[in-house]
Amino acid sequence: MASSGILVVGGGLAGLRAAIACHDQGASVRVLTKVYAIRSHSGAAQGGVNAALRNHPEGADDSPERHAFDTIKGSDYLADQDAVQTMTHEAPLRIRELEAWGCPFSRFEDGRIAQRPFGGAGFPRTCYATDRTGHVMLHTLYEQCVKRGIEFVNEWQLLALARTPERVVGAVALSRLTGALRALPADAVILCTGGYGRIYGRSTNAIINTGSGMGIAYRSGVPLEDMEFVQFHPTSLVGTNLLMTEGCRGEGGYLRNKRGDRFMYDYVGMERPELAPRDIVARAIEHEITEGRGFDGGYVHLDLTHLGEEQIKSRLPGIRELCLQFAGIDPIKQPIPIQPGQHYSMGGIDVDPDCSCPYLPGLYAAGEAACISVHGANRLGGNSLLETIVFGKIAGDSAVEYCAGLGHDPSALRALTDELDWQGRRVDNMLSASGEQNAGRIRLHLKQIMIEKVGVFRDEPALKEALLGIRVLRSRFNDIRLTYRGLKYNLDLCRALELEHKLELAETIALGALHRAESRGGHHRVDYPERDDDQWLRHTLAWREEDGSARLDSKPVTITRYQPEARTY
Ligand SMILES: Cc1cc2nc3c(=O)[nH]c(=O)nc-3n(C[C@H](O)[C@H](O)[C@H](O)COP(=O)(O)OP(=O)(O)OC[C@H]3O[C@@H](n4cnc5c(N)ncnc54)[C@H](O)[C@@H]3O)c2cc1C
Repeated sequence: MASSGILVVGGGLAGLRAAIACHDQGASVRVLTKVYAIRSHSGAAQGGVNAALRNHPEGADDSPERHAFDTIKGSDYLADQDAVQTMTHEAPLRIRELEAWGCPFSRFEDGRIAQRPFGGAGFPRTCYATDRTGHVMLHTLYEQCVKRGIEFVNEWQLLALARTPERVVGAVALSRLTGALRALPADAVILCTGGYGRIYGRSTNAIINTGSGMGIAYRSGVPLEDMEFVQFHPTSLVGTNLLMTEGCRGEGGYLRNKRGDRFMYDYVGMERPELAPRDIVARAIEHEITEGRGFDGGYVHLDLTHLGEEQIKSRLPGIRELCLQFAGIDPIKQPIPIQPGQHYSMGGIDVDPDCSCPYLPGLYAAGEAACISVHGANRLGGNSLLETIVFGKIAGDSAVEYCAGLGHDPSALRALTDELDWQGRRVDNMLSASGEQNAGRIRLHLKQIMIEKVGVFRDEPALKEALLGIRVLRSRFNDIRLTYRGLKYNLDLCRALELEHKLELAETIALGALHRAESRGGHHRVDYPERDDDQWLRHTLAWREEDGSARLDSKPVTITRYQPEARTY
């Protein structure tokens, strides 16, 4: 075995679970992360994590197979069914493992892990810890890393992968604290860098969610898969767009328009229509607003007042706190003003079900940065936390297996030093650039373009305008000037380096959306409102060309058991 060990990039749930897997298999592993692990966006997850545990009487006949079917149907049949089966069958194991590691899940009276309705199942399948599920999971995994003595390289930002023509040999990173650059040799790199939410205006995501890991893989010659599929969460708090978890509706919350009507009955014939899949609820809300049945300022109400003080305080304490602090509203007494917001990146780095990238040996990805693809065109609530712990472990196991068969590569050192030099020049050029453009303004424009033209509803003219706008911003980026040119904690520099990736990712999203002339899951084309399985039951791949432009390609969907059916709601 070669000896550089495994580098995990990202300290969120996927990264921590991958690092634990590597360590437990006896490999040498370290975690590089641009923020301290427990500040990762995983810690903001509220509602819960799915597993067919059958702990609730209404879910007594639940099974991993039913979970798989719901996930595939929810994905509008774009998910790869072999990967989904792996995820749902591993789910109970990974939840019980967390339980054994001391994760403080909420419990039923009899002591078993509590489950609530969430994520399109229609009955309680989602395990939770009040409305702070991601927080407790992240701390539990972090404790396990500390216990194992896993090394963390904190506040270092990945800038690039180092590769030979054959494989990955390491990475180059920048210290946010000192501005120093460092080459990190590695036999395998596992990218667990999360989603790109902040490309969009009105996002529920943390500011750190820039998608740079995807952008870095893309620049290394790896395609991105299904980038046009972006999830808009129906209920984000007006103003800050903080997430108001689907758990609010799982607990029995209503959506009401300005007339006070529970309008979801007009859109889906379900007993609890507020629990329809997210893409459908988000479109219904946008429709109410454009038809003039929303409130001035573009929102509707999420009404929890009928749930009562006791239920809100015990099941949704974090939501109440966010409403009180950020909107001055007490949901026990007042409805919450909400609107759809960008929430999740269904697309990402194209990897196989064992999390290996088929185009670049030694590269692995898991979590929101990856497209495995278990969510297809639309992710069910509670399946993303699950994806991180199931595929984080699989990525770690696969990387260890790969490294075991690896010999010494004499060209590795050269590739690393070349990349280090290249990134050094990139950073120097950015620091000394004396252009006319301000990176912050470019970032703001990008967010506007994406939410206005590549949002919940899409059509050809708007998508063409978006592409044009993004390309203009890309050329403006070549003429930037940083406001701060020092090396210490230069967030202006760190964010500008990431903006370069954001612009390229935005182009893959808009281009994919323009080409996909159908509506499926989170991708809704008003000019092509139907799903078209004959033409479009396939994944989109976006490759980066030499000149920096995106080229689209496609690959088939893996269908093992469930043939596509029309939506029944
Ligand atoms: C508000 C909110 C609520 C959610 N609620 C739920 C829920 O209830 N249920 C559910 O299933 N899903 C939920 N999700 C989705 C889910 O939380 C995320 O998809 C998941 O946690 C992502 O985990 P991750 O490990 O892939 O990435 P993250 O947790 O985002 O971690 C990414 C890591 O990568 C590091 N990183 C990124 N770029 C670089 C770089 N260039 N260099 C070095 N390090 C880098 C960061 O420091 C960070 O540690 C929610 C998401 C949000 C935003």
